[in-house]
Amino acid sequence: MQYISTRGSAPELEFDEVLLAGLANDGGLYVPKSWPQVNAEQLRQWATLSYQELAVEVMLPFVEDSIPRADFAELVNRAYATFQHPSVTPLKQLDSNLYLLELFHGPTLAFKDCALQLLGHLFDYVLERQDRRITIVGATSGDTGSAAIEAIKGRARADIFILFPEGRVSPVQQRQMTTVTAENVHALAINGTFDDCQDLVKAMFADRQFRETVNLSAVNSINWARIMAQIVYYFWAALRLGAPEREVDFCVPTGNFGNVFAGYAAKKMGLPMGRLMVGSNRNDILTRFFESDDMSVRGVEPSLSPSMDIQISSNFERYLFDLLDRDGNATAKTITDFRQTGRMQVGQGGWERAKSEFHGFSLSDPDCLAAMKHWHAATGEVLDPHTVIGVQHAAEFGSSERPAVALATAHPAKFPAAVEQALGAEPALPAHLADLYDRPERFSVLANALEDVQKHVLSNRQG
Ligand SMILES: *Cc1c(COP(=O)(O)O)cnc(C)c1O
Repeated sequence: MQYISTRGSAPELEFDEVLLAGLANDGGLYVPKSWPQVNAEQLRQWATLSYQELAVEVMLPFVEDSIPRADFAELVNRAYATFQHPSVTPLKQLDSNLYLLELFHGPTLAFKDCALQLLGHLFDYVLERQDRRITIVGATSGDTGSAAIEAIKGRARADIFILFPEGRVSPVQQRQMTTVTAENVHALAINGTFDDCQDLVKAMFADRQFRETVNLSAVNSINWARIMAQIVYYFWAALRLGAPEREVDFCVPTGNFGNVFAGYAAKKMGLPMGRLMVGSNRNDILTRFFESDDMSVRGVEPSLSPSMDIQISSNFERYLFDLLDRDGNATAKTITDFRQTGRMQVGQGGWERAKSEFHGFSLSDPDCLAAMKHWHAATGEVLDPHTVIGVQHAAEFGSSERPAVALATAHPAKFPAAVEQALGAEPALPAHLADLYDRPERFSVLANALEDVQKHVLSNRQG
């Protein structure tokens, strides 16, 4: 499989290069040159596979030019061995036509583990064969940092430095980053805001000499391998519910459009699917787009579902590329105009098509709390403030003919304050994290100064 950039002027690459490159050098995102096709007969055969076996079948066409099947199967097995549930992402019935796909049984209790656990092993494999080392840096306001740290800890050929704003991440999120003991993990509390942390990371990438000295890399959500790993659980859930004989809808709480784009990819590969339902909070740019062709940027406002407090969804560019019939120049121009004017124009035809493939929905904070309360009373289920948006979306707009699968993107214990506000009691951490508050923390506090951070990276990386 070759990969092409959404902006049409970067070189075509194979999987191993796309994995390490992240962003294409024309500023675009890599997408597969064509979608591998799965037919109904294959789907029937896949129905009895374990999650890991299915993962190999679904992903192999994307990686096989770079990684032989047997090696890939081993990486997949290692990646999902860290999940606490035997079926990795179990499906739970909530109502007659409504199911919850629990994606939070990985080490950090959020769906990002599904992709990042595999990414850590893929990095190691590819770097080993190329005899290279990398230094990963990233900024986090919470979820992504801990998932990236858990993915990279103990990997032989990478160091990871995660910058977070000192005193501004929740205690659970901080401890998930600072209690990891591996030598190649470096949690850095920056005296500043999340934006300061992001600016420091950008500045490190912009410093060419530094970038080349430490072999800088990133694991953010624009990496194709993350999307690829997320395609698997759409197949998994649909097969549990009778695919290919029956279509299902998926409800996906969305920030960067990565998770829901993986669902779109599964559909493109031939998985029979009803609608892809895209949920957001008060930061509802995507809902406004699907409802009324209004993709205009407003300020980001904090909400109860912080992982979706996003205005510009970076992975939307991958879908835009398809909407524009895979014309890289047109995609580049549309994105440039969007950045300049704050408004995206895809034309009447593009919008009609988008509207037929996706359905948008947004939930305010008060409605989110009410929904958490309602679902708890009705089913006994404690839902986190992201997941509940998808569940409510299914309840209000789901079809009576098809089952809906709501993606549970985080364990409720990750957002104890919101759960306490809705239900009056904090949820307990699962057993493997029950002693999180007793574990010793290890992190460095640094000034919001590029030179200090760079010095720290240079003198603390391994190898
Ligand atoms: C990251 C995250 C999301 C948003 O996922 P995208 O891939 O950015 O759309 C939703 N819920 C939770 C809990 C997350 O951590």
